[in-house]
Amino acid sequence: MANQAPIVIVGTGLSGYSLVRELRKLDKETPVVMVTADDGVSYSKPMLSTGFTKGKDAQGLAQAETEAMAAQLGVEVRTFSTVTGIDTEAHELVLGDQRLGYSKLVLAWGADVIRLGLAGDGQDHVHSINDLMDYRAFRTALEGGQRVAIMGAGLIGCEFANDLRIGGYEVDVIAPDTAVMPSLLPGAAANAVQHELAELGVRFHLGTVVERVDRCERGVRLTLGNGETLDADLVVSAVGLRPRVELARAAGIEVGRGIQVNRALETSAPDVFALGDCAEVDGQVLLYVLPLMACARALAKTLTGERTDVRYGTMPVMIKTPCCPTAVCPPPAGVEGEWVVEQEGSDVKALFNSPSGEVLGFAVTGRFAVEKQALAKEVPPIHQD
Ligand SMILES: Cc1cc2nc3c(=O)[nH]c(=O)nc-3n(C[C@H](O)[C@H](O)[C@H](O)COP(=O)(O)OP(=O)(O)OC[C@H]3O[C@@H](n4cnc5c(N)ncnc54)[C@H](O)[C@@H]3O)c2cc1C
Repeated sequence: MANQAPIVIVGTGLSGYSLVRELRKLDKETPVVMVTADDGVSYSKPMLSTGFTKGKDAQGLAQAETEAMAAQLGVEVRTFSTVTGIDTEAHELVLGDQRLGYSKLVLAWGADVIRLGLAGDGQDHVHSINDLMDYRAFRTALEGGQRVAIMGAGLIGCEFANDLRIGGYEVDVIAPDTAVMPSLLPGAAANAVQHELAELGVRFHLGTVVERVDRCERGVRLTLGNGETLDADLVVSAVGLRPRVELARAAGIEVGRGIQVNRALETSAPDVFALGDCAEVDGQVLLYVLPLMACARALAKTLTGERTDVRYGTMPVMIKTPCCPTAVCPPPAGVEGEWVVEQEGSDVKALFNSPSGEVLGFAVTGRFAVEKQALAKEVPPIHQD
C-alpha cells in the first residue's frame, strides 16, 4: 500500500542530505529511504574547486561515510542504485529490474555535466568534475602531471584555475567568450578576475574553442579553433551543467529547463517533489547552495504535513578565486536598469541600479568584496511576498 511505503529521496548530494536533516528535526519516525547512483559519501560540492587551496585530497573533502550518515539521520541509504524510471500511478520507482514503492517521492538527483563532442583520441584525458567520485578520479589522473588545460571560463573553470595554480600546476583556460564568467559578472568585474588570475600565471585563450584532443607522447595535444595548439597532461571540462530532466519527462512529469515545481516544490505528479540542481522552482533554475537549503527547509515542513512555500531571499554567489575575492548578486533576468561602476585597479564595485535608483544587483571584487553582506541587504529578495 502506498501509504505504508517510505518517503523515498533520490540523491545524496547537498539537496538530499539537507532535506533529511531538516526532516529529522521535525519527524524522527517516518521511514525514509535514500537512493543514490554514487557511493553516498557526504561532502560539500563547492569544496571540490578548493582542494589545493585547503590542502585536501578527495578523502580529505569527504565529510562523513554513508553508514555514518544513515545512522545519524535514521534513514536507509541504498548506494550504487540507479533509478531508471518512475511509475507515478503505482507510486513506485524503477531501479533496473527492481521496484521500490514510495508514499512521497523527492527528486534530488542534480544536474548532468555538458559533454562536448570533441574530435580526437584523447577523450580519456578529459575530466568533468561534478561529484566527489569525479574528483577522486581527477586527483589520481593528475599525479605526476604538471599542465592542466581547462575548457570553460565560467565560475567553475575560474575557480579550478585559481586552485590549480595554488597547487603549483601550469594552467591554460580556453573559452569561446571574450570575458570570464560572462553570464554572471558585468565587464569590469570580469576583467578584474581575469587580470588577477593572469597575474597568478593562468594563461587565457578566449574567443576560441577546443576542437580536438589527441594523445601525444606526454599527455594530450589540444587543437583550438584559432589554429593554436597546446599540450597538457590533463583536461578539465567545465562547460556547464544541465538539470537532469529526462527520467521525469519520460514519467510524464512536466519539465522545462528543470523539473518544474511550484513554490511548495510539488511536481505535476501527485506526491512527487523536486529540489536542488534538477529543479525549476517557480520558473527559477538556480544551481547554487543557498536556494537548495531554502527548499530543503520548506519541503521538510510540507512532508510532515504543514504545506509550506519556499521563499527565496537575495541569493549572492561567492566566487572562490582567492587571488581576486568576488561576490555577485545578479539582477533578475530582463529587468530594466544599468550597471554603475566604481573601480580602482582590480577592486571593483558595480551596482545594477533601476531607473528609480533602487539597487537590483551587484558585483564586488578585491577590497570591495567585504561589502557583499551589506549590499545583499539592499537588494530586494527574489520572492517579494
Ligand atoms: C566545482 C563546483 C563548485 C561549486 N561552488 C559553489 C559555490 O561556491 N557556491 C554555491 O552556492 N554553489 C556552488 N556549486 C553548486 C552546488 O554545489 C550545487 O548547486 C549543489 O551541490 C547541488 O546539489 P544537489 O544535491 O542538487 O545535486 P548533486 O550534488 O549533483 O546530487 C545528485 C545526487 O543524485 C544522484 N543521482 C543522479 N541521478 C541518479 C539516478 N538516476 N538514480 C539515483 N541517483 C541519482 C547522484 O548520485 C547524487 O547523489 C558548485 C558546483 C561545483 C561543481
